[in-house]
Amino acid sequence: MVSIKEDGALPLPWLAAPLTHALQQARSHALLVQGPEGVGQLEMALALAQSWLCEAPLSTGLACGRCVSCHLFQSRSHPDFLLLVPDALRESLGLDADDAGPAKDGEAKASKSKPSREIKVDAVRAMLGFAQVTAARGRAKVVVLFPAESLNTVAANALLKTLEEPTGLLRFVLASSAPESLLPTIRSRCQPVPLGLPPREQALAWLAERGVASPDVLLDACGGRPQQALQWSEDGIAAKTWLELPRRIARNETGVLSDWPVPRAIEALQRLATDLIRTAHGAPSAYFPRDALPAARNPDAMQEWARILRDAARHAEHPLNANLLMESLVGQGQRLMRVAVRKDA
Ligand SMILES: [Zn+2]
Repeated sequence: MVSIKEDGALPLPWLAAPLTHALQQARSHALLVQGPEGVGQLEMALALAQSWLCEAPLSTGLACGRCVSCHLFQSRSHPDFLLLVPDALRESLGLDADDAGPAKDGEAKASKSKPSREIKVDAVRAMLGFAQVTAARGRAKVVVLFPAESLNTVAANALLKTLEEPTGLLRFVLASSAPESLLPTIRSRCQPVPLGLPPREQALAWLAERGVASPDVLLDACGGRPQQALQWSEDGIAAKTWLELPRRIARNETGVLSDWPVPRAIEALQRLATDLIRTAHGAPSAYFPRDALPAARNPDAMQEWARILRDAARHAEHPLNANLLMESLVGQGQRLMRVAVRKDA
């Protein structure tokens, strides 16, 4: 799990300014880090927690990375820290089954069902138990919930009272890319901490350090969100693939996205539709370089495709037949693109 290191290095370099700002501006015992996915919300939440728990914070308020508390945090064994995430995220975050929290052993092992995408009430009840114990190291007790929109309604309601009247040194950091979907009663109890897209040069340097070729293409493809760009690159999506995508779809190469997970493929098509609508209106493209796009002249046809894609995105996690769905979406895009572009495109 990510933390502020011994040398004081932040897990993501662009968090320095927003972190310092948040630490200095925090008036509430509950913060809600909000903004787009893929810019480091969880890292931000964890760094806030580590800084509050740190026993020798810097003048900026940031954790020192070297004290006993920081070492406990780095080794994920700080007694005053609790992270609540859906089971479905545990593996990708490198959390062991040992940390699985409140689930009873037998139950957890017997269940072969898919890990939940929700933070459930059991986890919140276990957190309430944690909250009642005096802080072992006397600095603070911190609970991070990520992503906060995965709290189901029962769990959110169980959280409310403690969020409103926390005991002693208890503090919360919620992080969400969909704060509008949180219960208003949860939202109103938290101080919002906006986390926007990082500065482009910083994001490009970070991607280049991680071996991403043509980081500018992938960063644009991902709307400026560097963590998503890194993930795409690690999943084998090269800049070339992205640049060729519009023309391959215009040629109705339905297999072009067959290796992509369906939600990501639909997201890519939505970005293409957005860019074709933008350029048809004479606006600059956002996700593709202008010369990678066919020259669309009829935004209405592309609006129709965008609407079809929006509908498809709602069911993207559970398509009945992924290949058929992608063939159909690419085919519709190709037909509408033919309507939208000039002959010479
Ligand atoms: Zn420290």
